[in-house]
Amino acid sequence: MSAPDVPEVEYDSVDKYFGETHVLKDVSLSVEDGEVVVVVGPSGSGKSTLLRCTNRLEEIQGGEIRIEGESITDPDVDVNSLRQHIGMVFQSFNLFPHKTAVENVALGPQVVKGFEESEATKWATAMLDRVGLSDQADSYPNQLSGGQQQRVAIARALAMDPSVMLFDEVTSALDPELVGEVLEVMRNLAEEGMTMLVVTHEMGFAREVGDRVVLMSEGRIVESGPPADFFAHPETERARQFLARVH
Ligand code: ADP
Ligand code: MG
Repeated sequence: MSAPDVPEVEYDSVDKYFGETHVLKDVSLSVEDGEVVVVVGPSGSGKSTLLRCTNRLEEIQGGEIRIEGESITDPDVDVNSLRQHIGMVFQSFNLFPHKTAVENVALGPQVVKGFEESEATKWATAMLDRVGLSDQADSYPNQLSGGQQQRVAIARALAMDPSVMLFDEVTSALDPELVGEVLEVMRNLAEEGMTMLVVTHEMGFAREVGDRVVLMSEGRIVESGPPADFFAHPETERARQFLARVH
């Protein structure tokens, strides 16, 4: 846990280019310990890139990103150890099809943390319990619904005992009736005090679970505020346009 006055995640004037294309423009954002920040915005505005830079799946060209006060964008940072602190869940769950749910979750602790198999299995079972799937521990991915598979993917990320969780449109590929169970798991994590950065189109989740909503447009943060203000009294024309489209 970080000291109370150090943000868990800090983006400090971050610039990111893909070739000539400037995709993150002077992005500054602090996420406090235990805070849930929901990032919204149109497609192509840089939301995924922002998350991907946070665990060095992408490199930045300007500014700095800090986790618990320590720069992670320094060239000599140990990327593998960094990624243990940051859980990431994507739209596609990418579970190993020939491993059971509990084996999928146990793999990281075994390979990366050096847990013995029995210890890893016990830990993985506890993680499946956190996402409400302890009864499906021995099921293979193709025996699970999309919502259940995504919950296993969340358990897999939790198994590394991260200090922050990044969620990138984790319900976008799911059938509508399966979205709720995944959002419920995320809501529970938020209530447990997990620090979360959540990219989503689910405005109900943003409103009810978010401590803060951040709107991105064309690589910039154009508005940021508590959900009650963001949804009821957007300050910028961009935010008004965005809300008119999603409501
Ligand atoms: P969002 O998640 O908000 O839809 P992205 O972060 O995926 O936006 O993309 C932001 C911009 O960066 C877009 O213009 C996209 O085309 C571009 N982009 C994303 N990934 C790459 C890449 N690997 N190479 C080149 N351009 C990319
Ligand atoms: Mg995206």
